[in-house]
Amino acid sequence: MAYDPSNIFNKIIRKEIPAKIIYENEHMMSFYDITPACKDHALSIPKGPYENFVDFTSRASSEEIVEFYKGINRTVELLGLPKGGFRLITNNGRFANQEVPHFHFHILGGEPLGGLLGLPTKIKA
Ligand code: AMP
Repeated sequence: MAYDPSNIFNKIIRKEIPAKIIYENEHMMSFYDITPACKDHALSIPKGPYENFVDFTSRASSEEIVEFYKGINRTVELLGLPKGGFRLITNNGRFANQEVPHFHFHILGGEPLGGLLGLPTKIKA
């Protein structure tokens, strides 16, 4: 499936809509999730046109991939998360309930997070 450039994260990249940006470099940016699922909930996205994890890791350059993951590390440092611990999640496709079709990692932390699954889902099996 082709990347849909009308998605909301692409609008954030193009600065067409605002976001509370935590960290940004040439290849990626991190900003706060508008509906936080825990005390500290951020999103990290590449600036290139990639729909999901599979698309990103298949098509992105080595530089984009390295800078993306280093940017996530910089973001968790800026948020002060490594000491207490944090979780990284990426939802890839329908069964994972991916809502925004631009690749992103959720960064979750700031408080105990509980078990891995158990969140409500809108999709039908
Ligand atoms: P996913 O279900 O993995 O695609 O997650 C999409 C996430 O994007 C959700 O946690 C939303 O709360 C978040 N989100 C949607 N629109 C915005 C926005 N304008 N700014 C920040 N986060 C957003």
